[in-house]
Amino acid sequence: MIADNLKIVTQRIAGACEKIGRLPEHIELVCVTKEASLGQIEEVLDLGVQNLGENRVQDAILKYRAIGDKAIWHLVGHLQTNKVKYAIKTFSLIHSVDSTYLARQIDKEAKKLNKIQDILVQVNTSGEVTKFGISQGAVMGFLKEISLYPNIIIKGLMTIAPEVEDPELARPYFRLLRELRDKINEQRITKDELPILSMGMTNDFEVAIEEGANMVRIGRAIFQR
Ligand SMILES: *Cc1c(COP(=O)(O)O)cnc(C)c1O
Repeated sequence: MIADNLKIVTQRIAGACEKIGRLPEHIELVCVTKEASLGQIEEVLDLGVQNLGENRVQDAILKYRAIGDKAIWHLVGHLQTNKVKYAIKTFSLIHSVDSTYLARQIDKEAKKLNKIQDILVQVNTSGEVTKFGISQGAVMGFLKEISLYPNIIIKGLMTIAPEVEDPELARPYFRLLRELRDKINEQRITKDELPILSMGMTNDFEVAIEEGANMVRIGRAIFQR
């Protein structure tokens, strides 16, 4: 079942790429395992998945104990500052950095652990009050500030589009994130260019890829029965 689902997801990624002339190997699939059992996670790893996404640090710690470095671990959910130390020990990429205080804590704890932590900045592209993320207008200033921190590397931007029936309605938010990333790179806001755009989930990943996503975070489409 999971094998079939994964195959369909892979085909849909390839289909979206073909539509706009991009290469599917340039799209990184993060398999979001927040609702998956250890057995299911083992199964996707056996099928060749490398990137696992979790949205709670506590859950990830337990899974990490069982699975370890066979996988590359991504934190896709909100990070509370009291969990930063554990997050750094577990995750290769933290997708959800959205405050100076959090960035500073990550930098500080990473230094203690002798790690340079890769992060993405989460942008609230829709402006919904229920969503985490830096507001669109504050992103440039935020990046300038945190790019000075020596123990973090900003790899790109992440967003979560509003939940809509028709994925076409999510397109403007993905486009906004891509345009923001391009502007950041053109204006050389960060030390290095930002390569990653983490956007697109089960309901909207094809549209996200059409708009430039190169990292998609997919859970339900892989684990649903
Ligand atoms: C759960 C989650 C996903 C995956 O969502 P699906 O709809 O299951 O594909 C992606 N990103 C974040 C931040 C999530 O919390």
